[in-house]
Amino acid sequence: MKENIKIETDEENEILTVNGKKISAIPLESSCSCCGKSIFYNVDYDANFCAYCNKWLEKKCENADCGFCGKRPAEPLDAISLENKRYMLKDMKVIEVE
Ligand SMILES: [Zn+2]
Ligand SMILES: [Zn+2]
Repeated sequence: MKENIKIETDEENEILTVNGKKISAIPLESSCSCCGKSIFYNVDYDANFCAYCNKWLEKKCENADCGFCGKRPAEPLDAISLENKRYMLKDMKVIEVE
């Protein structure tokens, strides 16, 4: 687990803020079997995750060309930074490499 993770939830707007970075996260009824906190569904990667454990709760599917699983980072919090980077690059009209 990474250090100093600060998580705020905005369930009404389905936004999760992790260390000041926002990610779309739909709150689910279930809770994490490790830490007991609420888990969320991330639309970008079509997967449930626990932000507190920084773990995806589902395995990737078998399809190597899957548009969701193929680009999914190893840890959800990396997904958050990747997404923010993408938005930042887009806003600045910088061509994304890779
Ligand atoms: Zn957890
Ligand atoms: Zn998939």
